[in-house]
Amino acid sequence: MLRVAEHFERTDTGRQRRANEDAYFARSPLFVVADGMGGARAGEVASGTAVEVLSTGLGDGPGSAEERLAARVGEANTRIHELSVTDRDRAGMGTTVTAAYVGENDVSIAHVGDSRAYRLRDGDFERLTHDHSLVEEFVRQGKLTPQEADEHPQRSIITRALGPEAEVEVDRVSVRGRPGDVFLLCSDGLTSMVAEARVADVVREARSLQDAGRALVEAANAAGGRDNITVVLFRLEDVDGAGGDHATQPHATVDRSSEDTMLGTDAPTSAEVRAAVAAAPPVPPAEPAAVGGARRLPRPPRGDTGDRGRRGRVRWVGPLVVVLVLLVPILGGAYLATQAVYFLGSDDQGAVAVFQGLPYRLPAGVDLYRTEYVTGLSLDQLSARQRGQLLDHKLRSHDDARDLARQLELGQLSTR
Ligand code: MN
Repeated sequence: MLRVAEHFERTDTGRQRRANEDAYFARSPLFVVADGMGGARAGEVASGTAVEVLSTGLGDGPGSAEERLAARVGEANTRIHELSVTDRDRAGMGTTVTAAYVGENDVSIAHVGDSRAYRLRDGDFERLTHDHSLVEEFVRQGKLTPQEADEHPQRSIITRALGPEAEVEVDRVSVRGRPGDVFLLCSDGLTSMVAEARVADVVREARSLQDAGRALVEAANAAGGRDNITVVLFRLEDVDGAGGDHATQPHATVDRSSEDTMLGTDAPTSAEVRAAVAAAPPVPPAEPAAVGGARRLPRPPRGDTGDRGRRGRVRWVGPLVVVLVLLVPILGGAYLATQAVYFLGSDDQGAVAVFQGLPYRLPAGVDLYRTEYVTGLSLDQLSARQRGQLLDHKLRSHDDARDLARQLELGQLSTR
């Protein structure tokens, strides 16, 4: 019968981000890493909520440990999604999650997003999860080599997360555990900065899990530390093995290092999460387009505003007033020069573009916007969250709009 001999976990803000939106949970037999995303600290709420839901354990419902673990991940998705649609500041927030549960003979893993699970066994370092990321899909389709994917500017764009949609597909797998196996769960702040082969060497050569964990975080920071870095490591042993304890003890209660157990220090406590929920104003749910993964975002309106929701119309009152004020210069034919507002949207070819002006077309067919800059990205390359947050036609300054477009092109906008 398996149990966890020791574990070590660490999270680090990295060198570039101001906040740490990663969260983790480590209490034998359950280990979790979550990497949150979303503006205004919503990422912290998302990853903290995932960890909070999972920290309650698997319960004793029906089904295998793997099924119950995946069901918990599904519950976490529901919770995060509900929070995101009842609070406008949190619209589109999301998180990855990679969770591992050590059972009697197997280690079950449930995962969504691009945080990973690895196993080191007899010197072989094996990845147990498939990233739900744009580049990994390209690799599967043969459009990119794994090497190219590692260096791709869009490598942190994920295609699946907890939160953006009401339902999520959870990947799950169980692997036979063996005494001596070392498992690593990590956020992409590690794997986007440090090549997998190097991660393998560090874990293989470390004298202890603690050395391995510290060295991994150091390596990610030495490589630039562009993202939050979280590592959770645990090693298996046999209950009847070197430890000499009796097999009659249930494995869930014989974690020798339980005193190290803690929630990630940067994860919000459940009280904080609850307080945040309580403080949320009762606003109507966001438009489906803001959270739907498959739906394309509205393009700059082309005269047809019939399908706009209530919220959409309310949002247009401001610009409409400006439209009226602008009518005089428009008639003079010089309105573009006076338009100091910009917005992000998509052009007729489905490319993400920066538009100058107002996202509005006058009844006479006069567009109040013009394409200022077309990025090399198509809408499909953006995550649901990015589409929801960036292409909402919010009016921005020129620098702000161009900067966002540039960061998108460089793949720097995951803010996870
Ligand atoms: Mn990350």
